[in-house]
Amino acid sequence: MPLIVHKYGGTSMGSPERIRNVAKRVAKWARAGHQMVVVPSAMSGETNRLLALAKELAPSRTSPAYNRELDMLAATGEQASSALLAIALQAEGMESVSYAGWQVPIRTDSSYTKARIESIDDQRVRADLNAGKVVIVTGFQGIDEQGHITTLGRGGSDTSAVAVAAAMKADECLIYTDVDGVYTTDPRVAPAARRLTTVSFEEMLEMASLGSKVLQIRSVEFAGKYKVPMRVLSSFTPWDIDIHEEAKSGTLITFEEDEKMEQAVVSGIAFNRDEAKISVLGVPDTPGIAYRILGPVADANIEVDVIIQNLSKDGKTDFSFTVHRNDHARTIELLKDKVLPALGAQEVVGDAKICKVSIVGIGMRSHVGVASTMFRTLSEEGINIQMISTSEIKTSVVIDEKYLELAVRALHTAFDLDKPAE
Ligand code: ASP
Ligand code: MG
Repeated sequence: MPLIVHKYGGTSMGSPERIRNVAKRVAKWARAGHQMVVVPSAMSGETNRLLALAKELAPSRTSPAYNRELDMLAATGEQASSALLAIALQAEGMESVSYAGWQVPIRTDSSYTKARIESIDDQRVRADLNAGKVVIVTGFQGIDEQGHITTLGRGGSDTSAVAVAAAMKADECLIYTDVDGVYTTDPRVAPAARRLTTVSFEEMLEMASLGSKVLQIRSVEFAGKYKVPMRVLSSFTPWDIDIHEEAKSGTLITFEEDEKMEQAVVSGIAFNRDEAKISVLGVPDTPGIAYRILGPVADANIEVDVIIQNLSKDGKTDFSFTVHRNDHARTIELLKDKVLPALGAQEVVGDAKICKVSIVGIGMRSHVGVASTMFRTLSEEGINIQMISTSEIKTSVVIDEKYLELAVRALHTAFDLDKPAE
């Protein structure tokens, strides 16, 4: 019997009515001859609600002891939704049992609020499946070596589902969500965006890391590492739609590059408004500046993304990089205090009104001129490029935030993404 993992996001689990719909859909899959493991998120808004309560009691606390309690707290959201789903399945006449992460167990490291899964013991789940039960496993959580409850970071239920699918060698992991698949770009920004029927795992990885919020990036890494067949599809189709039709809907994440050979050079346009730019001006151009600027930044646990250093003039240069917007003020302060005086640089300036726009496609490996088409398109729209970074399958530019929509739409058209795929 094929083993299938379903994952349902918070919106899909958002009310008793919706949970009943999920139960009916899962029952349909089980009755069609599949062993079913289901990984739900907390009901929508629940994780935020719980975390806000903690904030109310201790607005600015951070410590391992506090983070431990956050995990203890947040994990209850998935425990509740999982039990409710098992109850709904039982009401549909299915035998069903739910397990919290620690009961499976899903073992993780001890980094509270962003733990990593280390191993999953599938014996208990397998025994239940073999006894004909639908098994519900809480998303988002696990247990560390000392027996403390951990959570996997926001959006972590995707990763739970893929990890369970990998551990159990499931035939497919279906991620049910409130959109009907992975799009060429965000339809709210470019109305011509369309759903991709397939996307390669590497493209998905880039898109997830570049700001497309469909999947938690770690889930994609997991799928790649263990070659878990994975599909993103809508939970808002009627639950009783034909199962064969449903099984082919959404977007399949593929591992076969050959399948993509005939397809577009660029598969999607990703963007990110969460970054801010920092420039250190008038830096004496000597060996080691990158290290002397970015070393202290890394030591403060601040992640740096795009970096550029300008050509030097009269022995001085400008050095710019981007960080997450939340780290913007902290980075500037740190540079002013610790780096500027020692380096003999003139000043540090920041700009939070930027965005990063990226084109992604494995076809870029075998085609030349893709980046230049991007640059030409932006220049025709009068958009100034502030920074550029590239990898084998993507090119990103940092531009003024006010041009985001214009840039995304123009690129979407320039790379033929407006046209329906044949
Ligand atoms: N409930 C958790 C969150 O909101 C995990 C998830 O939904 O994937 O982040
Ligand atoms: Mg999610």
